[in-house]
Amino acid sequence: MSFTADRLLLFGATGDLAQRMLLPSLCALSADKLIAPGLRIVGTARQELDDQGYRNFARAALEKFMPADRRGGMAEFLNRLYYQPLDANQADQFQALADKVGPIEQGLSIFLSTAPSLFEPTIAGLVAGGLTGDKVRIGLEKPLGTDLATSCEINDAVARAFSEDRTFRIDHYLGKETVQNLLALRFANIMFEPLWNAAHIDHVQITVAETVGLESRAGYYDGAGALRDMVQNHMLQLLALVGMEPPANYDATAIRDEKVKVLRALRLVHPDETVTGQYRKGAIDGQPVAGYDDELGRDSDTETFVAIKAHIDNWRWKGVPFYLRTGKRLPQRKTEIVVQFRPVPHSIFAGRGARTEPNRLVIAVQPEENITLSLMAKVPGLDREGIRLRSVPLDIAMADAFAGPTKRIAYERLLLDLIEGDQTLFVRRDEVEAQWDWIDAIRASWATHGLRPKTYTAGSWGPSAAIALTERDGVTWHE
Ligand code: NAP
Repeated sequence: MSFTADRLLLFGATGDLAQRMLLPSLCALSADKLIAPGLRIVGTARQELDDQGYRNFARAALEKFMPADRRGGMAEFLNRLYYQPLDANQADQFQALADKVGPIEQGLSIFLSTAPSLFEPTIAGLVAGGLTGDKVRIGLEKPLGTDLATSCEINDAVARAFSEDRTFRIDHYLGKETVQNLLALRFANIMFEPLWNAAHIDHVQITVAETVGLESRAGYYDGAGALRDMVQNHMLQLLALVGMEPPANYDATAIRDEKVKVLRALRLVHPDETVTGQYRKGAIDGQPVAGYDDELGRDSDTETFVAIKAHIDNWRWKGVPFYLRTGKRLPQRKTEIVVQFRPVPHSIFAGRGARTEPNRLVIAVQPEENITLSLMAKVPGLDREGIRLRSVPLDIAMADAFAGPTKRIAYERLLLDLIEGDQTLFVRRDEVEAQWDWIDAIRASWATHGLRPKTYTAGSWGPSAAIALTERDGVTWHE
């Protein structure tokens, strides 16, 4: 059902995500008049605060996390905020929350920015408090379970109160501008799609590299590991967007139908096609950093790095490896997709001493948003000693090409879509389950083969086996 909510209810309203992302995003949307003046935002968490107390809390968060030049409409934004203390485990406290939210006939959007262990009691409480129904939709933050079974449990609990068309599973990578640009690049230009297949693409690389270590997430991260923290969601979504067939329309059903086909076509990974690692002490940007076990204070078998050679078993991608790698304490923070084209079938320049290099498309997602296509060009000169060719980048620096529009963070887009009810950039249940299916099989094979993470020095690109994973195919990671 299509409606724009005039109520937003934010669980976990005092948490880290709310402070760093959600409140700044909502403030920006409010300042830019992208949300209706009447939208009432109610925050809730256990902390005892009244409305004014929460407004003070939100002001402090905005001053800390929002760039000064975007705080223009802060005073009006703060006036939209209300707060109701509540323990999500106590169903009897939800009536007071419903009273604070007020009438929901126009529509209510709920955002659960709390631990997934609270999802079930929260749903039960929402039912008890009358905060469900056709005009209520719900947004859920990751992680949605730790495997297929627990993910199904969460999804079943949500489905008891919210139909799929009112369930918005967030993968904030989908809110990133460059990720959406991948669709524009592929489907708004004639030149890529005819080449976007096994006949012309040699391989694809997807890297999500972090320089940070455990930070304050030890409890969660040690139980999850790189495979479940990054690959299961963000990286598989990127892979699906690169690999999918052209959808008929830019709409939620058409795009998600195509993504899920790719996810279901992922081949089971052979143990030789994965490498796991765990960082030991080293240096990042010249600063010494501790090893994972030291940060954790004990030994652990959790992988902080994983590299995978994946295959999509369908006509388009037959024989094209998708190399995925992600890790903590790597030398550089970057998320990028590299599409490596095949060499030209015959070089007319070979007899003149020139070498050609295959074209490469690099889509940088963060920290900078950039699209670069490498093309061969002739080095200027009279060529008396042979022709010289060089690979030169055709660069689309998004920040320069589109200097006018405000640079927005992913959550601005996603919150607005949640309020207005556009599911295109949210993950459907069948996608999540296909993702878990593949990930569970990898973990099962690690367990069967007793695979333990190899160590790597913080500040390096992971264990040397990760380099060997691609080198044995004659491929070098793009660095
Ligand atoms: P957090 O800082 O631990 O915040 C948790 C929030 O939940 C707090 O507002 C907390 O406030 C509230 N809460 C805890 N127990 C509660 C209860 N029994 N009843 C009601 N409220 C309760 O966590 P976060 O980092 O904001 O993350 C929130 C969710 O987003 C998690 O699922 C996380 O995995 C996910 N996520 C976070 C990030 C990130 O960058 N932080 C990124 C991606 C996904 P009280 O203690 O006052 O109740």
